[in-house]
Amino acid sequence: MATRYLAFQSLIGSFKVFGTFSYALLQSVEGFLRQVLGWREFMCHIHWETDGFRLLPHGKPPVSRVPGDGGFGRWRGDKWTPQKAPKEIDGGATPSFLGCKEPLPPAFWGELSGLACLDTVVADVWEEGYSHHITRLMVLGNLASLLDVSPRELTDWFWIAYFDAYDWVVEPNVLAMGTYGVGPLMTTKPYVSGAAYINQMGDFCSDCAFNPKKDCPITNLYWAFLERHRQAFADNPRMRLVLSSLARRSDSQRRTDGAVFEWVSSVLGEGGTVRPEQRPEVDDA
Ligand SMILES: Cc1cc2nc3c(=O)[nH]c(=O)nc-3n(C[C@H](O)[C@H](O)[C@H](O)COP(=O)(O)OP(=O)(O)OC[C@H]3O[C@@H](n4cnc5c(N)ncnc54)[C@H](O)[C@@H]3O)c2cc1C
Ligand code: SF4
Repeated sequence: MATRYLAFQSLIGSFKVFGTFSYALLQSVEGFLRQVLGWREFMCHIHWETDGFRLLPHGKPPVSRVPGDGGFGRWRGDKWTPQKAPKEIDGGATPSFLGCKEPLPPAFWGELSGLACLDTVVADVWEEGYSHHITRLMVLGNLASLLDVSPRELTDWFWIAYFDAYDWVVEPNVLAMGTYGVGPLMTTKPYVSGAAYINQMGDFCSDCAFNPKKDCPITNLYWAFLERHRQAFADNPRMRLVLSSLARRSDSQRRTDGAVFEWVSSVLGEGGTVRPEQRPEVDDA
């Protein structure tokens, strides 16, 4: 549906579309208006107005000289040479409101991470070139954000992996919505979560070596993310509640969060698999 060939103006004037509303289910009508006529057009408008985030209200973020490969070359050990493109085609804007610059882990290219949610979604994407919104946002975007991955590198990966990844829709969805790369310009807060949300929204956890209620590292990654970036969220009213929960975490919990972040970042960064028995725990002493 998010193909650029769907012309909004022709929908507005379409008797057939609006005639259908008289007998369609209310939730279908709501979905159509909110997602297709609302959110999809908003994405398109943002892309158009900011020239793909090359122009932001507070200045111009750096722009990559040539299109990136989403970490493919690093994973394969080959140097990736972009196709010859006209000089005026650059590699896109590289904003990062939170200053995230880490490379995308090889798990996104199919190496097993040991996190069933990530491994299942990545395998499905390489099989089908598609996955649903929640998996894009709350598994792929979430994990990359929690690991401080460069928003541009993740965007390039989406661009390569998804069949519907046109610039006008993939850039606002990844650089702005999925990674908070342009801060509060388009969304009021980052879309990050711990294991509870992933467990509630899908059935990945039942096949995972980790337990979402006990030892899932994603929950520690979530708290460690908030701890690292809490200055950036200090004035954000929508982050007040989670920051006050963060403040109630004990010293040893915070140290465990940080240690789990270091552990997962380094194992996944090397293309390895995390296992429950290797999980670091910090003593209360
Ligand atoms: C990190 C991330 C990357 C994404 N990358 C792309 C992409 O490359 N290409 C793409 O088309 N969509 C992208 N999306 C948006 C969205 O995930 C897909 O449009 C959606 O999964 C399509 O599935 P659906 O038809 O079941 O959508 P539904 O949720 O049923 O919505 C109905 C229709 O509304 C429109 N819509 C809904 N949400 C969005 C949205 N966030 N942006 C634009 N249109 C939307 C689409 O036309 C969609 O078909 C991305 C979202 C995220 C979070
Ligand atoms: S337990 Fe954690 S890592 Fe495993 S599938 Fe659930 S959320 Fe993902």
